[in-house]
Amino acid sequence: MKKGDQGHLLVVDDNEMNRDMLSRRLKREGFTVVVAEDGHQALQLLKQHKFDLIVLDIMMPGLSGFDMLPMIRSEYTLAELPVIMATAKDGSADIVEALRLGANDYVTKPINFPVLVARVRIHLQLKQLSQLKDEFLRIASHDLKNPLSTILMSAHLVRDRVPPGFMMTEQFYNMLSFIVRRGEEMQRIVRDFLDFQAMEDGKIALELALINLNDVARDVVQSNSEYAESKHIILYTELDETLPQIRADGVRLAQVAQNLLGNAIKFSPNGSITYIRTNNHEGAVMLEICDAGPGLTEDDIQKAFTKYSRLSNKPTGGESSSGLGLAICKQMIDLHSGKIGVYNNPEQGATFWFSIPLGSSS
Ligand code: ADP
Repeated sequence: MKKGDQGHLLVVDDNEMNRDMLSRRLKREGFTVVVAEDGHQALQLLKQHKFDLIVLDIMMPGLSGFDMLPMIRSEYTLAELPVIMATAKDGSADIVEALRLGANDYVTKPINFPVLVARVRIHLQLKQLSQLKDEFLRIASHDLKNPLSTILMSAHLVRDRVPPGFMMTEQFYNMLSFIVRRGEEMQRIVRDFLDFQAMEDGKIALELALINLNDVARDVVQSNSEYAESKHIILYTELDETLPQIRADGVRLAQVAQNLLGNAIKFSPNGSITYIRTNNHEGAVMLEICDAGPGLTEDDIQKAFTKYSRLSNKPTGGESSSGLGLAICKQMIDLHSGKIGVYNNPEQGATFWFSIPLGSSS
């Protein structure tokens, strides 16, 4: 569905007056509508366009709604393409048959328009939920597969080559570090999914305390030093030591800083420098992470903080990505009444930043 578009509907009815009236009124509700005057035309249109939902008349000469339903269901599931049948008022046998053949719902004729619109909306919402679930499963299985197979491979190697009592060599130590790193990556993906779900359900509450953003910056640099070293990336801190304290949730801000710094390392080339800066600017404290990676296109900058945004940049060390990290960061910063953003550096790379107003979140 395009932005601002309520949904792309196909209305199939052999009666011209019904067809036009339905089409006009649905368009007024913000839907885009294509009409078909019989089943054959509808099947043709289905091949040419992608529809979100069909309003289908049962009684039509030639191909009836009953004939069409099995054809539609052989191509699309109930969740992919919902069908609302228009049936006669006293046609309970027809209703049962239509639902058996694959209709999602029905309205009786003469059509009560507000009821039809309410049902169309509910089925479009269910369709969206189903898409979200599919997306979730796709990402979860794809992103967890890679780290899991490297974890298992390294674990097998270590177990097979290090008998009990054997000294730990540097090679095995490196393998164990690899297992830990990939395991932590998987943990982060799972945590991202759970956090995101909790935020969608409005279940994240901040635990506010007086904190210093410099402490957050130092912690996150410390915990990423090994990861940065593995890609020969230098983490260079420039902290404003006069930074005032803020009332904020230190754990959540650390999570945001972790995501931004993790991304900077993830998308930067080996041997580059990433700067971590703090400053006190216009009544807010700010953390900036400035990398020497590929930067972002204008289009990607627009989409960066929306969920599941798989943008053009790919990790430089085979790491996985869920496309949820920045969306979570935005929500965490919104909860603090702060701001978050990104811009491209004049020379190279991107700077991701967030700021928390002084005296907010009290
Ligand atoms: P993930 O990193 O898990 O894919 P994010 O929401 O954190 O999810 O990031 C979304 C996308 O934004 C990334 O896939 C990447 O294309 C882009 N991106 C994020 N940070 C950077 C960065 N520092 N440099 C370049 N691209 C980035």
